[in-house]
Amino acid sequence: MGYKVLQLKLPTYYSDDDIRLLIGKKLGLSDFSYQIAKKGLDARKKKDIHWLISIVVSSDKLSTDEYPEPKLFPIPYKKRDKTVIVIGSGPAGFFTAQVLQLAGFKVTIVERGSEVEQRSLAIQRLEERGEFSPQNNYAFGEGGAGTFSDGKLTSRSKHISSERLYILSEYVKAGAPKEISYMSHPHVGTDILKVVVTNLRQMFLKNGGVFLFNTMLEDVLIKNNRVEKVVCNNAELQADYIILATGHSAYETYRMLIRRGIQIGTKNFAIGHRIEHKQRFINMAQWGKESLPGVKAAEYRLNTTTSSGLPVYTFCMCPGGYVVPASAYPEKSVVNGMSYFMRDGIFSNAACVAGVHPDMLLGHTSTSSEILDWMDKLEGQFYNFSNNLVIPAVRAIDYINRSESNEISSGSYRPGVKPAPLYNMIPKIVSSALSEGLTNFSNKLKGFELGVMMGLESKTSSPVQVAREKTGRCPGFDNLYFVGEGSGFAGGIISSASDGVKCAISIINSC
Ligand SMILES: Cc1cc2nc3c(=O)[nH]c(=O)nc-3n(C[C@H](O)[C@H](O)[C@H](O)COP(=O)(O)OP(=O)(O)OC[C@H]3O[C@@H](n4cnc5c(N)ncnc54)[C@H](O)[C@@H]3O)c2cc1C
Repeated sequence: MGYKVLQLKLPTYYSDDDIRLLIGKKLGLSDFSYQIAKKGLDARKKKDIHWLISIVVSSDKLSTDEYPEPKLFPIPYKKRDKTVIVIGSGPAGFFTAQVLQLAGFKVTIVERGSEVEQRSLAIQRLEERGEFSPQNNYAFGEGGAGTFSDGKLTSRSKHISSERLYILSEYVKAGAPKEISYMSHPHVGTDILKVVVTNLRQMFLKNGGVFLFNTMLEDVLIKNNRVEKVVCNNAELQADYIILATGHSAYETYRMLIRRGIQIGTKNFAIGHRIEHKQRFINMAQWGKESLPGVKAAEYRLNTTTSSGLPVYTFCMCPGGYVVPASAYPEKSVVNGMSYFMRDGIFSNAACVAGVHPDMLLGHTSTSSEILDWMDKLEGQFYNFSNNLVIPAVRAIDYINRSESNEISSGSYRPGVKPAPLYNMIPKIVSSALSEGLTNFSNKLKGFELGVMMGLESKTSSPVQVAREKTGRCPGFDNLYFVGEGSGFAGGIISSASDGVKCAISIINSC
């Protein structure tokens, strides 16, 4: 069997027959099979928007090339008696647990929230009746923060290609569409992610893993450079390795760790709002037409640096998506975005944020506790705006001009919005940067200023970072590791999951 890699240019709406016809023409073959290796939309010229597809053709008639299959890293299995407790079942925690389990460790996952099925019901009650559940919300519960998300599976992290490949292949095994393994901007949406999280859990349990739901890490007992025990729901648990994968929303967990002497410092992060537009408007701006057969919805990613040197950018864009109340705690208000696999909602939203350092916000060299308190207070002030989930909003053009908007429709945000001078609700250094950024973005994407800025977006990245070694181990501890977004070294589903995989591999290699 021989193989040949071809680059094809195809219209946005094409069929399998079109691909076969093109391959046949290019290689003069009639008997062959093929596999898509990469697929991305080229929308640089509005009049010529097309797919660029990399295809691996295999046929007895071809004698060239080796099959260019990407290589996965090996996970060496052996019988081991070592035990591991992983705290948190988000992408980082789950994949650390899963890889260690496949290598023969006895793994328990401790998760403060419930199974994703129960969590879904709690989120439904939140959106429909405003009932907030402290352990099952957009931040907490099985699957972690990313479960009720747009499910973008892209990552800007470097040096994680084999981990990314592994994670995507596990997602496909657990029910995600195969296309995520070759799309240049893969995404699965909330509907598919819930299925994936359920199936991954079932495989983990089938392989002998233990899942403790509704169980919260409350304390760590330290003796002789080791976490001797973890206290969860008043019970003491013990293991050879303790992996923290608690995400960046678990403020009380951070505070407990700081009290116990785990070194956590401050770092750059971003803060701002969500901006929402009608999706057909974004399609028009990006494609020159309101819809494009064969493509779900147009995306954008914008960035600039302000005259004061602050980065301003859009982040985590959710085409055809919904703005959601994503606070981890009661009487706090934070927004984020999600979508379904079809991305067929009538709005699009994205974070529109300015990159800052905690010291800029606090006006002095700050500690991790201080920035967590500061964030808590700001999230509380946004909640106090309405004393319920209704969020403040303003048209982007009015944000730029610092004037209030008269009337604003709720858009996709179910609990509702109310016009307010949003630019006065966050520090001036941030709102001024955002005004400048919005002006710049309106020049790049025609009509961007007609969008609506909503609520507080404070969770694009962590403002704190744990001190840790390359392996993920906390210095001064023999058996304590911190992975994922909460560590401050990762952000996003793939990057956090990869961080977990890397930590697991380093533990496997060390014993
Ligand atoms: C609404 C929304 C949309 C998003 N969209 C995307 C997207 O499209 N693409 C993308 O790449 N990223 C997205 N993100 C970000 C992404 O979800 C996170 O970067 C990622 O989930 C971080 O993974 P993690 O495992 O490090 O932490 P998390 O996912 O935050 O998981 C932490 C887990 O630990 C549990 N936990 C916390 N404290 C304790 C404790 N004390 N005891 C026991 N358990 C505890 C939590 O319940 C949670 O399950 C989105 C986030 C949100 C909120």
